[in-house]
Amino acid sequence: MSKIRFATIWLAGCSGCHMSFLDMDEWLIELADQVDVVYSPVGSDLKDYPENVDVCLVEGGVANEDNLELIQQVRDRTKTLISFGDCAVTANIPAMRNMLGGRDPVLKRGYIELGDNSPQLPHEPGIVPELLDQVIPVHQVVPIDIFMPGCPPSADRIKATIEPLLNGKEPAMEGREMLKFG
Ligand code: SF4
Repeated sequence: MSKIRFATIWLAGCSGCHMSFLDMDEWLIELADQVDVVYSPVGSDLKDYPENVDVCLVEGGVANEDNLELIQQVRDRTKTLISFGDCAVTANIPAMRNMLGGRDPVLKRGYIELGDNSPQLPHEPGIVPELLDQVIPVHQVVPIDIFMPGCPPSADRIKATIEPLLNGKEPAMEGREMLKFG
């Protein structure tokens, strides 16, 4: 039987959801036997997201032009897309900047008003991605197949979501153990 082509990506988050993924400890060895990790910030050096991915965990909200471009490509190339953690599901912490009202006030606050030495706005087209006006949850950009909340989701919750998929089944995303935020 061919192995599941498995990927993870991070957008605007803190990487804590990926750290929780690594907390699955010895089950990661079982997982590694059953999947091909074809793309991941913690498990692969590949620069380009590949075609024909079976399952992808998406951490983080959509905050800039690079996030937007990547998630659209990921959606096009992935069968089962999982919104992984509260930042992906609701935009959560990164969306706190939305209260400032948009991209320009955020940059002004961060780089001019709070800048210590020679404050200036970052502007390196093609190097520094342009911020979007608001940070938005992933499902507001592309359709999502499975929502896995948590900040971060526990290792048990991550395992309970992924394990059924390895056997061609849908995970039961119900009850406090699987759906509690925070
Ligand atoms: S959901 Fe929590 S742990 Fe995950 S990226 Fe966001 S802030 Fe970090």
